[in-house]
Amino acid sequence: MVKKYKSTCSYCGVGCGVEITKAPDGKITLTGDKDHPVNRGMLCSKGMNLHYTVNDTSDRLLYPEMRMHRSMPLQRVSWNKAIERTAAVFKSLIEKHGPESVGFYVSGQCLTEEYYLWNKLMKGFIGSNNIDTNSRLCMSSAVVGYKKTLGEDSVPVCYDDIELSDVILVEGANPAWCHPILWRRVEAHKAANPNIKIICVDPRETQTATNSDLFVPLIPGTDVYFNNAIGRLLIENGFTDSKFIENHSDGFDAYKEKVFEKSIKEYAEICGIETEKIIEAAKWIGEAKGFLSMWTMGLNQSVIGVNKNLSLINLSLITGKIGKPGNGPFSLTGQPNAMGGREVGGLSNMLASHRELSNPAHIAEMEDFWGVAGISNKPGLSATEMFEALDSGKLKAIWIICTNPLVSMPDANKVEAALKKAKFVVVQDISQNADTVKFADVILPAAGWAEKEGTMTNAERRVSYLEKVVDAPGECLPDAEIICKFATQMGWGNHFKYNSSSDIYDEYAKSTIGTNIDCSGINYELLKKETIQWPYPADKTFSGNNSRLFEDQIFYTPNQKAQIHAVDGKNPSEQVSEKYPLVLLTGRIRDQWHTRTKTGKVNKLNQHIDSPFLEIHPEDALLRKIKDQQVVMVNGKRGEVKVKAKLTETVRRGTCFLPMHWGKIVNNSFARANNLTSDLVDPISKEPDFKYAAVEVSLYKKP
Ligand code: SF4
Repeated sequence: MVKKYKSTCSYCGVGCGVEITKAPDGKITLTGDKDHPVNRGMLCSKGMNLHYTVNDTSDRLLYPEMRMHRSMPLQRVSWNKAIERTAAVFKSLIEKHGPESVGFYVSGQCLTEEYYLWNKLMKGFIGSNNIDTNSRLCMSSAVVGYKKTLGEDSVPVCYDDIELSDVILVEGANPAWCHPILWRRVEAHKAANPNIKIICVDPRETQTATNSDLFVPLIPGTDVYFNNAIGRLLIENGFTDSKFIENHSDGFDAYKEKVFEKSIKEYAEICGIETEKIIEAAKWIGEAKGFLSMWTMGLNQSVIGVNKNLSLINLSLITGKIGKPGNGPFSLTGQPNAMGGREVGGLSNMLASHRELSNPAHIAEMEDFWGVAGISNKPGLSATEMFEALDSGKLKAIWIICTNPLVSMPDANKVEAALKKAKFVVVQDISQNADTVKFADVILPAAGWAEKEGTMTNAERRVSYLEKVVDAPGECLPDAEIICKFATQMGWGNHFKYNSSSDIYDEYAKSTIGTNIDCSGINYELLKKETIQWPYPADKTFSGNNSRLFEDQIFYTPNQKAQIHAVDGKNPSEQVSEKYPLVLLTGRIRDQWHTRTKTGKVNKLNQHIDSPFLEIHPEDALLRKIKDQQVVMVNGKRGEVKVKAKLTETVRRGTCFLPMHWGKIVNNSFARANNLTSDLVDPISKEPDFKYAAVEVSLYKKP
């Protein structure tokens, strides 16, 4: 019998609803869910082809495997044996070296229930905070930006604000390729209202830039200066909201002093753009009734990622364009459940339900809730710190879940060396093609999308339910079940006994009571009927609109006022030099996702762009006698990449671009962009500087 199911796309943070049809032979097909408030039936190329990753199990890890030494081949073992060994090694390391000698590195693609359990296990029971996530690599600067300005990691807007806005500023993001369904909503809004203005600020002329009314091709790393220039003009031209500034914010005077330190001409020179572009953008923003700003990795993945976030959010605050229809700062989420992970405390410096490790009351609340004592207040290792600690020997064991750090982490050669040195590596994944699998001492095969149930939260705080559609192949188990098996083997079984995923969600939701993200009114019964945005308390004490936050202009800061921050634009990224004169940017392409373990096996998606490439400006290429499609070497301080050159004026002179998706070796070439990326991180958010590394490009010569 043909059966229908509802779920959510597991790629980007837009969170589109899908309707899955299962044929009698078990094969599935899918379409966009017409009733879903996010996508209204639409799907992008990745979402449309998601079912191929379920129907094709040829690359799947099917059985637990382990080896007693890295020189030995991995061998199939039973679940019991794999879990017993993992628990034995963890116990012994914790006994000998303390709880900080082990770590979990998880993913924004984990379901909320799984994320919650990993955090409970590590922070409540193992006794350290060494659990971090690949969301550290994409969202942590925005998290800090929101906390510093609004008092909480709370996206203040919703997607419906798109259709209510009249100016949309997209900075350091290419939603036309990376958040396509959201972008279609922007395009449809523009088509229906031609006066809507779209401004795109990016060093590359992306598809989003092409679709914009004003493209600002600034020099990489100068975003803060651009935003401060806009701030100066908004103040000079009387576009600020004095009532909001007076009654609902702090910090305006210091901000004004900071942005007036430079003239518009000086700002334009620093950013490498015409003053007219700054003047035009400021006029549109100032006159807008609805001003939305959208951003992602161009701002977040920077050694000054937090400052870039603050400087952009400032524009919404000084104009009072927040908490009103069509207005507000809107960080777009890269991964499908980066938001859910943040809710449950998925970063090494947080506790469940946005509680803080630095707050003794928050620690006491979670100790009471989990029935434990001694939750450490010491922040755990962040993503990059975890691999550095493996390298130094401080961290002995790492358990990697649903992510492929060997390709996705910055300075990947360093990560590779660290994994080689690690005493014990557990990899819990679905694909044997994930490069990190090679370093595993134990492999735990996990169930993938549509093979388990659970929830995710999208970029507008919308929680949605993902139904189980098919059984996982081989002996693959849902991640939550694997965690509970391990916890039981460690002796904490009483605290990890659940009858269903629904029970796990209920426990998490209960932990949110009394916090600003209270979702205690959400449960599976409701989610099977509709998607729900938080906050959504069970006692309905939330009096405002849960789609758009801060309509009452009361913020989550201690004095309930938004905080405007005076920030400087100085960018301490790796400097270009005579040896390495070009700035390398990295990023995504339209039809691939992360390290291609899923999208790479879908022929239709590979037809868009099937191999890695380096975008370089024709004048920079000419200087180096490089022609289009010739093989080049890209060299930097930390490594090299060998790919074909693509000559294009869409990159600025002095910069070049590599996609981040490909692994170490592709067609005998070293294609891994992260061979070259810098190991610098933002000092507060610890997010890496993926978008700024000094390199040189030369024609490849056969040895
Ligand atoms: Fe999936 Fe994102 Fe595409 Fe929607 S826009 S279908 S969530 S990849």
